[in-house]
Amino acid sequence: MKSHCCEIDETKDCTSACKECGSAGKPVMEITLGSMVKEPVLEAIKNPDGFHFCETPSCEVVYFNNEQQVYLHKQDVKARVGIKETESPVPVCYCFGWTQERIFEEIKQHGKSTAVQEIGAKIKAGECECEIKNPSGRCCLGNVNKVVKKGKELYRVP
Ligand SMILES: [Zn+2]
Repeated sequence: MKSHCCEIDETKDCTSACKECGSAGKPVMEITLGSMVKEPVLEAIKNPDGFHFCETPSCEVVYFNNEQQVYLHKQDVKARVGIKETESPVPVCYCFGWTQERIFEEIKQHGKSTAVQEIGAKIKAGECECEIKNPSGRCCLGNVNKVVKKGKELYRVP
């Protein structure tokens, strides 16, 4: 089964609960794990199937596998996980280099952000590689929208 990062079937409930925060995490592909997890940690994983991504901002767990009892934390992962970071730069879109700061700066200067349109156009052109660049292994657009909304609230843009 080969599914593209932006075409993962969201209707199927294949979530699993993170043991440290109790929230449901979505499955991650083997390719995502392989590109995101630091080598010595990766080598210790016996089976890359069945891993999930924890999206809780305050939770230190990034990937977990309840069947294998494996819990990987921020220090086991190469990239900065944007949703779990509070210090700049906070990455939002990993494929095209959008950070929370860049989006906020645009809103501050122009009252709007071009991030959603620009990223959307590149996804359409097939240029995104979320499955190996984004720690969640998924399309960033949902998070980009949230950051734009947050920026508009911050600078009181309607
Ligand atoms: Zn968690």
